Amino acid sequence: MQHLITTDDLTTKQITQILDDASRFKLQKRPVSLLKNKLLFTLFFENSTRTRSSFEVAAKRLGASVAHLDPSKSSTSKGETLEDTFLNIAAMQPDGVIIRHSDNALAQKFANFELTPLLNAGSGNFAHPTQALLDLFTLKEHFGNLEGIKIAIVGDIVNSRVASSAIALFGRFGIKISLVAPEQFMPHNVDLPKFEKLKDVLDDVDAVMSLRAQLERHNKPIFEDYETYASHYCLTKENIGDKNIIIMHPGPVMRNIDISDEILSDPRSKVLTQVTNGLFVRMAVLKLLLLDS
Ligand code: ASP
Repeated sequence: MQHLITTDDLTTKQITQILDDASRFKLQKRPVSLLKNKLLFTLFFENSTRTRSSFEVAAKRLGASVAHLDPSKSSTSKGETLEDTFLNIAAMQPDGVIIRHSDNALAQKFANFELTPLLNAGSGNFAHPTQALLDLFTLKEHFGNLEGIKIAIVGDIVNSRVASSAIALFGRFGIKISLVAPEQFMPHNVDLPKFEKLKDVLDDVDAVMSLRAQLERHNKPIFEDYETYASHYCLTKENIGDKNIIIMHPGPVMRNIDISDEILSDPRSKVLTQVTNGLFVRMAVLKLLLLDS
């Protein structure tokens, strides 16, 4: 049984297959119902705008059906343990469960039961594998060859599962990563070039991935005022100028703190392309896990 908890669960051959299938799905007007009669369950204990709907649309485009458990209305609020909730969902014999939770280890723990394929849709600050895959796809689509591409990850890196998964995945494809953040947002256990100032990297990168402050994971306010933070880290017309770089962000974007309105609507911004690509990448992931494995 194949799970997707981190991108390390995938061989390089499987990742290449996902990228190829996603390209094919993107070109097809009417994808075939490869997953007809399959049923997926979503179990989102944290908010989501893009990921949950992207998984749902991906499943439906492939002919699968999707059931949702809304944790705020489920028996976890009556005192049922998370484990029992999961075991009850698994007892309905879905073909896969898509889970998001603030606990870094929960998705892996449920995967270890080997009851149903587990797809991690975001676990704490630990991993968000489909985001990293769609980011990789977006880079490949734009640059063609990934080897040697230089990307700066900017923002609240230490609290971001998007950053964790990007760091784990991109290096496997020869992408060179640098990290840009104030001290409070910089991870210390990651061996990559680190910069405090955006201007020190912007002339030497092909892409910038901006990340919002993960306020829900801050135990106490880290910055009182995000305007000062923005004056150093926001991607603007002034600091991007006419540089030949692409701008990425997993969303939700904090407008004019992470990226200015002007740069968000600049053709170099791939933020909505990432969302479109996410759909095709998730279709490819579902095909791999539910059909090919
Ligand atoms: N949507 C992404 C996540 O779930 C990024 C974010 O929330 O900042 O991690």
